[in-house]
Amino acid sequence: MKTAKAANKEELEAFRIKYLGTKGVVKSIMGEMKNVAPDKKKEAGQLLNEFKIFTEELYANLSSSLTDNGTAHSEEIDTSLPGDPLPLGSRHPISIVQSRIVSIFHKLGFSVAEGPEIEDDWHNFTALNLPENHPARDMQDTFYISQNPDWLLRTHTSSVQIREMEKGILPLRIICPGRVYRNETISARAHCFFNQVEGLYIAENVSFADLKQTLYFFVQEMFGDKVKIRFRPSYFPFTEPSAEMDISCLICGGEGCNVCKKTGWVEILGCGMVHPKVLENCNIDSNKYTGFAFGMGIERIAMLSYQVKDLRLFSENDLRFLKQFQAAI
Ligand SMILES: [Zn+2]
Repeated sequence: MKTAKAANKEELEAFRIKYLGTKGVVKSIMGEMKNVAPDKKKEAGQLLNEFKIFTEELYANLSSSLTDNGTAHSEEIDTSLPGDPLPLGSRHPISIVQSRIVSIFHKLGFSVAEGPEIEDDWHNFTALNLPENHPARDMQDTFYISQNPDWLLRTHTSSVQIREMEKGILPLRIICPGRVYRNETISARAHCFFNQVEGLYIAENVSFADLKQTLYFFVQEMFGDKVKIRFRPSYFPFTEPSAEMDISCLICGGEGCNVCKKTGWVEILGCGMVHPKVLENCNIDSNKYTGFAFGMGIERIAMLSYQVKDLRLFSENDLRFLKQFQAAI
């Protein structure tokens, strides 16, 4: 009885009338109770109650075995029906921007180099001309690994550049994309982790003009050929001379708006000629070889490209945000 099925709503209703209706089996047996001998009434009443509950449960089971359309669930699979649509993910905006940056530098002969996110002090700081007690270290406070005070989460992918230079294979032309860490208060414009792409070119006779032309090509490919660039002198311990590069504001075209703080320019990366001390730290002859390096935050490029105003959106995994980007295939 438990496996009984109702083929449709009519059969279900017929069952209800037969057993649970006002003239149904349950009611009619109740009517017979008056004929039961007084000493048997209790036992008969219990039996009748059990039968009533059993019938009601059976009715509920039959009712739930019908679909919303009032037809029975079928165990047969109709292979001619169209399939359920499969939800299709979208690529993360950081991945989209990173692969665009990588493909632009591929055109110029740069290959991708990667390295560990847990670094030692030498590769992250000291080899980059940031010795212990150097004040510039304060700007790159990070997270240290408790098992070994020499280990830390890398603050930039420059550590990968050191590892590649130490291999001693020249000329060297690499870009290093990857996640980096800083001990920063999380806000709309800063996070304790973000993604970088850094580039390095070392050969004989590499000049600042090569650096400018390389970055100019990148900006035109990334943002279009109407975008202008400018360099401002800056300071980094690992490059000399050093500069920060701005592009003309994509929103106002250089007229001045809130995004560019009315200046018409937006900073996108830092760059410079590799400091001779860094080359020597990696056993490269700084009299023979020169090189340039640059680095940019991928989130910053993505915020400019997609007009995203809050950095935190990139790591909150909110599907309403992520679904707005192109599909995975
Ligand atoms: Zn602007």
